[in-house]
Amino acid sequence: MIRQNKNHMNVEENMQTQEMECCVVCGITTDVPVDTPIENRKTYMECVGQLCPDCCWELYHTTDLRTRADV
Ligand SMILES: [Zn+2]
Repeated sequence: MIRQNKNHMNVEENMQTQEMECCVVCGITTDVPVDTPIENRKTYMECVGQLCPDCCWELYHTTDLRTRADV
């Protein structure tokens, strides 16, 4: 009897080739994959673009723009 083990671990490879968004302010690479829907991005500002958490905090004093209260 031959038992085949088909537990391939190719997940790591996929994650490393994934493109990440860059912060529009400082240009740093964020941890947001480019294919992330806008509603799932914590630091994406409409009409501005993707921000890194640092710039987002600097500009808007929040690290999650989706929960930002209008002032
Ligand atoms: Zn930034």
